[in-house]
Amino acid sequence: MHRITEALMSWYDKNAREMPWRGISDPYGTWVSEIMLQQTRVETVRDYYPRFMERFPTLRDLAEAPEEDVLKMWEGLGYYSRARNLRKGAQQVMAEYGGVIPREPEQLIKIKGIGPYTSCSIASIAFDVPVPAVDGNVIRVISRLYDLHDDPTEVKAHEVIEKFAAELVPQQRAGDHNQAMMDLGATVCVPGTPDCDSCPLKKMCKAFAAGTAEELPHLPKAKSPKEIAYDVLLIHHKDQVLMYRRTESMLQGLWCFPMLEGQREEKELIAAIEKKWKLKAKSIQFEQQAKHIFTHQVWKMSIYTITVDDKKEIDGMEWVKRDQIADLPLPTAMKVAKLTLKL
Ligand code: SF4
Repeated sequence: MHRITEALMSWYDKNAREMPWRGISDPYGTWVSEIMLQQTRVETVRDYYPRFMERFPTLRDLAEAPEEDVLKMWEGLGYYSRARNLRKGAQQVMAEYGGVIPREPEQLIKIKGIGPYTSCSIASIAFDVPVPAVDGNVIRVISRLYDLHDDPTEVKAHEVIEKFAAELVPQQRAGDHNQAMMDLGATVCVPGTPDCDSCPLKKMCKAFAAGTAEELPHLPKAKSPKEIAYDVLLIHHKDQVLMYRRTESMLQGLWCFPMLEGQREEKELIAAIEKKWKLKAKSIQFEQQAKHIFTHQVWKMSIYTITVDDKKEIDGMEWVKRDQIADLPLPTAMKVAKLTLKL
């Protein structure tokens, strides 16, 4: 075994983080956890994973569930296309593989929602296939171990990292090895200032020897997200509130309150509501401002309560009874608006 791998495994045997999806022998559970962990903190997933598995304990349960139920269990986790694709992927495994999740990355990558990284993480963790799983943590650890200075988002530099990562994967316990790399990156070889004194790989680490660890990896500067202002409208008619189910790819399938891009004075807003939906506002009240940060956008929202006398059917929208709103999947961006309703 490679010297680095050996040191890493003995560190992992003592320091592995306990997680509800570790040590299970259920590839479906591994798949769910790996999808949840994409772009989401471990601590958040710790909460969601057990509830999701209780609601959809088997692949068949997930494949047969209505999309809205799956989105409801995903509510607050963000990146909702993951949930929609996970369900479609489960349906695909039922239809094409007789409900048995394939073990090879080449087959796994053909399943909806499973990309290059996730195919390798599932193959190694669930089936011990000796392939590397290179996520952001692993990119950082490898960049430092080998003192690599090229931008890892460039194809060539990424290939070099993949090659080094592959050389380190042992023939046995490949899944543990990959999880050990991730744990080291998350707890010791952290972004910014790594804790090299506690690192089992210190003696083999080229960036530590060269004094370059803190500056690696050389990632391109992230673009700041675009700010968009919205008026968010809680339009009431008796005990019903106007809502719509999003069809846009962002937050698709989730329920939102009507929104108008831009920010207006109350008079202008009343006119805009009448023009767009032919609804006459009986009263309007500004409630509060709210802000929600997505990866690429920041929504700056002004929330209003509006009451109308006439209830019109509006294309693409529904009048939802107040006591039914809690059962619908809503994105976190709508949380403050929902709280304003005092359901
Ligand atoms: S010695 Fe420091 S920089 Fe090198 S792998 Fe360990 S924590 Fe990372």
